[in-house]
Amino acid sequence: MRKHIVAGNWKMNTTVPEGIALAEAVVAKSAEVPADVQLIIATPFTHLYPCGKAVEGTRVALSAENCADKAKGAYTGEISVDMLTSVGCEYTILGHSERRQYYGETDEKLVEKTRLALAAGLKVILCVGENLEEREAEKHFDVCKTQIVNVLYNFTAEDMKNIVIAYEPVWAIGTGKTATAEQAEEIHAFIRKVVADKFGAEVADEMSILYGGSCKPSNAKELFAMADIDGGLIGGAALKADDFIGIALSF
Ligand code: PEP
Repeated sequence: MRKHIVAGNWKMNTTVPEGIALAEAVVAKSAEVPADVQLIIATPFTHLYPCGKAVEGTRVALSAENCADKAKGAYTGEISVDMLTSVGCEYTILGHSERRQYYGETDEKLVEKTRLALAAGLKVILCVGENLEEREAEKHFDVCKTQIVNVLYNFTAEDMKNIVIAYEPVWAIGTGKTATAEQAEEIHAFIRKVVADKFGAEVADEMSILYGGSCKPSNAKELFAMADIDGGLIGGAALKADDFIGIALSF
């Protein structure tokens, strides 16, 4: 059975004390969530060490929001995968649309980042998704396929066990506009097929594919009821423990 995952992407929000309080609140409420749901918090780099302490030994896993495309050395301002594992990270998000859009994240860089992350023992949450113009031109299938082919087709079926895909239509991120459950399911099923075409049906069947884009407690149930939606990558609603846990209660 595929893993159900609810991952909170805190982005550049909260101070360190606020982040610790949020992590503690998520841990405190996590007992309500069915045991088969993996909870993840992805925090800013500055928060990873103390939030890692707050979730240590609990069912809440720690994730980074990004990592460097180099292993170590003279790369001022970058954070390596070994630094992430040393503070207890189990996951890193890669290829979020905000990084692609504002920080020039390319598929080539994402191949390097994914390679380093997997080699360090991190699991990767790779984000894919089209922008509004691409959706309106009905290019969303092609865009997602190209992003997956360019990055994930460089890896092996074994590597895929440690990779989660998050489908995040850019037009739905932080806008309050959610893809309908049918729109999301259509593309999730397509993404699973793109994975199956390269890695086989078994790998594709076992892979968790998350939906992201204005997911909240009021719409999560409908989305998570879909056959190919295995959970969510949550932005705004992950900043309130009640909303985050409310989403995780929606399976
Ligand atoms: C995100 O950025 O990963 C996201 C899904 O944001 P929001 O839930 O705020 O749309």
